Amino acid sequence: MTAPVKGPRVEEKLYQNRYQVDAGKPHITVAPHDTPSPNLLAMTRICPAGCYAQNEAGQVEIVADGCMECGTCRVLCEETGEITWNYPRGGYGVLFKFG
Ligand code: SF4
Repeated sequence: MTAPVKGPRVEEKLYQNRYQVDAGKPHITVAPHDTPSPNLLAMTRICPAGCYAQNEAGQVEIVADGCMECGTCRVLCEETGEITWNYPRGGYGVLFKFG
């Protein structure tokens, strides 16, 4: 049996990140839709930053302010055109404190 790892938890490390929001110019957008695909709906559960949520009508929306630019949604939803995905403009986006 291995000894427990000492040091800060992942949540504590993520809390150290900072974000420079590019107001009015989100780097990820969700295309208009009536019913989300399974992949798009999955983003409400697997985005590590919790950027995706369902509205009262069941459509998936994004607030990309806390995005960590991991690319998960890009892999799952960009090719089908459900989202557009770009890196934030220079000087904006996530500022990692632990690499
Ligand atoms: S790139 Fe990653 S952190 Fe950003 S919105 Fe997509 S899944 Fe979430």
